[in-house]
Amino acid sequence: MRRKFIAGNWKMNHGPAATSEFFNKFTAELKEAGDVLEAAAKGTEEIALFVPAVSLLTAVNAAKGTPVIIGAENMHWEKSGAFTGETSGPMITEIGATHVLIGHSERRHIFRETDEELNKKVHAAIECGLVAVLCVGETLEEREGGKAFNVIKKQFAEGLKGIDGDTLARKMIIAYEPVWAIGTGKTASDADAEEVCGFIRRLAKESFCENTADELIILYGGSVKADNTRGIISQPDIDGVLVGGASLKADSFMQIIKNAL
Ligand code: PEP
Repeated sequence: MRRKFIAGNWKMNHGPAATSEFFNKFTAELKEAGDVLEAAAKGTEEIALFVPAVSLLTAVNAAKGTPVIIGAENMHWEKSGAFTGETSGPMITEIGATHVLIGHSERRHIFRETDEELNKKVHAAIECGLVAVLCVGETLEEREGGKAFNVIKKQFAEGLKGIDGDTLARKMIIAYEPVWAIGTGKTASDADAEEVCGFIRRLAKESFCENTADELIILYGGSVKADNTRGIISQPDIDGVLVGGASLKADSFMQIIKNAL
């Protein structure tokens, strides 16, 4: 049985003060949520928040004593050096964060990050002990042009170059986030999301082996809210969700976590 993984991505929202405010409310709600705490203790559901670099330390401290995992939204592949404005993997682990998002569609499309660069980030993350959440997803134009599966196949193959099956299954997570569903309010239907997540699992089987495919955690992301979580999470190849806008408020994120149980 694969564990569920429910994650929020705050993007460029919530500096340290807003992070403290979020955690004050969220940890109070968590104390009242016996079923969520029980699932986290049993390891059947993991809860994660990917927060801006400037809020990592506040989030790590605020999450102490709770099962909430804290991750960064991006990292550079070098450990240190002349890369003004960047954050390295060792800097992220020094703060106490354990996970990192790699290749979110905003990084791919706004900041023009390439599959080759993302592959370097994946290797660097794993080398310093971070769990790498590699995001893949097609644009609306690519979907309408019938290219969605080829795009996912390329992002998967190139992002994972040089990674072995055990590493993929145990130290990575794949998030399928169709670009046209991110921040638009247009969720992929449960069947559309399952079709691509099932395709990713088959890619894992063909590229690695059946065990890797069976163990791999695959998330769906794109306008996930409390009221569409149950339908998405009940799909056989979807193990969790990556939530943008609806993770910014403690109560809406908590409702998603509860609906995913
Ligand atoms: C995201 O940022 O990863 C995301 C899925 O955003 P939203 O839920 O707001 O569509």
